Amino acid sequence: MERPLPAAPSPERHQPEMPPTRWGDPDHAPGLGESARALVELAFGLHPRPAAAEVELPPSRLAPAHREQLEALLGPDAVRTDDAVRRLRTRGKSTPDLLRQREGDLDDAPDVVVRPGDHDQVQQVLAWATRERVAVVPFGGGTSVTGGLVAHRGDLAGVVSLDLGGLRRLIAVDPVASTATLEPGLRGPEAEALLAEHGLMLGHYPQSFEYASIGGFAATRSSGQSSAGYGRFDALVVGLRVATPVGEVRLGTAPADAAGPDLRQLFLGSEGAFGVITEVTVRVRPLPQVRVYEGWHWPDFTTGAEAMRALAQSDLLPTVLRLSDESETAINLADPGRVGAGQEAAAPSGGCLMIVGLEGTEAAVAAKRAAVRDVLEAMGGTPLGEGPGAAWAEGRFAGPYLRDDLLDVGVLVETLETATFWSNRERLYRDVRAALEAELGEGTLVLCHISHVYPTGCSLYFTVATPGGGDPLARWLPAKAAASEAIVRAGASITHHHAVGTDHRPWLAAGIGEVGVEVLRAVKARLDPAGVLNPGVLIP
Ligand SMILES: Cc1cc2nc3c(=O)[nH]c(=O)nc-3n(C[C@H](O)[C@H](O)[C@H](O)COP(=O)(O)OP(=O)(O)OC[C@H]3O[C@@H](n4cnc5c(N)ncnc54)[C@H](O)[C@@H]3O)c2cc1C
Repeated sequence: MERPLPAAPSPERHQPEMPPTRWGDPDHAPGLGESARALVELAFGLHPRPAAAEVELPPSRLAPAHREQLEALLGPDAVRTDDAVRRLRTRGKSTPDLLRQREGDLDDAPDVVVRPGDHDQVQQVLAWATRERVAVVPFGGGTSVTGGLVAHRGDLAGVVSLDLGGLRRLIAVDPVASTATLEPGLRGPEAEALLAEHGLMLGHYPQSFEYASIGGFAATRSSGQSSAGYGRFDALVVGLRVATPVGEVRLGTAPADAAGPDLRQLFLGSEGAFGVITEVTVRVRPLPQVRVYEGWHWPDFTTGAEAMRALAQSDLLPTVLRLSDESETAINLADPGRVGAGQEAAAPSGGCLMIVGLEGTEAAVAAKRAAVRDVLEAMGGTPLGEGPGAAWAEGRFAGPYLRDDLLDVGVLVETLETATFWSNRERLYRDVRAALEAELGEGTLVLCHISHVYPTGCSLYFTVATPGGGDPLARWLPAKAAASEAIVRAGASITHHHAVGTDHRPWLAAGIGEVGVEVLRAVKARLDPAGVLNPGVLIP
């Protein structure tokens, strides 16, 4: 029943490259409005920090023979060592990544950027890299916020950035099974546009949606703003094709099976350390007839969180469900630039704002809306109507642009996330907050929202804003370490959806234990015997 589809999407669907020192499409950057600027000045002062004008890359260390070999495999146009391209493929988009780029620190630049056009070429590059002992860093959308694109060179002969932007097709749609097979380099909007031509959608909307890629979603086990309703990305994946240095792996021949452990889970979240994902088959669904987003007011964070738990535990999860704590609610109401989650609303003063979004057929949305309303009203929530929901939907991808504006005026802004069971939520919230405040001191804003919910627990997403001082990176790194320590002391996960990368590696063993780490090392040794795949990422 699979219907093969024609070749690549038209070039106008391709996003422009993100500037190395900033997030997103420069044409979409809203800028810091006058009133927001005044508020920022009041809270933190304005200390303009322009990015370094002159930046020098370390020279490419690629041996001439290696360049020739790569050109023979991929063609000369697909092999780039010029500074402009190498700079664009240096690190990801965490605040430390942006700060380093702004300071002109490009020590982690790859030696060469290659752009294979299909699975076989990826396979050939991996065989070459294994033979020549050259590190390979798969690059999807480049939106990693955990140092996932920073290869540790060690004694390897060089670092190749494997740009998956050449693998950008919708390979097949199976309308009967409701699945689609996508290439990894498709970015969020491109994938949705291709599926929409068939009346279908994936429904995966992380805040990085504009730039993050299908392969990246799979490699990091991403979660989106609609994951309450549609599921995390790993829950949407039904099949994978992976190129590894020792050969190809194809997984997912049935909707479910009992044929031993589910090996798809070995590659989901493997962050390029076990192989390169070259095809992803996902569950798709019809485009919704109706989308309704509305706001609810709660007297406090705990009452709102309890209502979320009630919804999750009675199988009444809406498509979107998020709850800002008192500080985040207050900031978003006060600041038209909307630090953090992008919510502004005519909510009663104080308390907490919840966003509830429902998507689907008219009948399904109406029925669930009524059932959700009954639960929320019974638990003390006050409906605020669709105004706050529409404002949230409009600003949902704006936060990262605002981060750049704040960095420009010397305000350090960064986010971190974790997850735990409902019974441990209050402790985790309290401890992470306290750790950040203790490390960063007075004048620091710590905002939080519950970003994803499950019957058994939820994730907490923190946004921190504080004066950057003379060396914002030196201010942030100890605060991040303190928050990470608080997370593992509370028995929570070091990451709910940002993945491990290099930044969370020191805390991974606290979650999976030493034997768990040994298992990961054994898999890596078998699949990547020369240790060339994204060395230093994921595995302690
Ligand atoms: C502003 C901002 C907001 C964000 N919001 C969210 C959010 O809401 N939810 C969320 O889950 N995450 C979020 N993230 C984190 C990030 O967007 C996700 O981790 C995303 O899944 C990464 O996708 P990418 O294509 O950009 O991957 P990249 O950054 O290119 O790569 C991420 C890691 O995966 C590896 N990789 C990439 N492609 C492949 C492949 N095909 N095969 C094997 N390995 C591969 C890379 O080597 C790297 O280690 C956010 C990031 C930013 C900057």
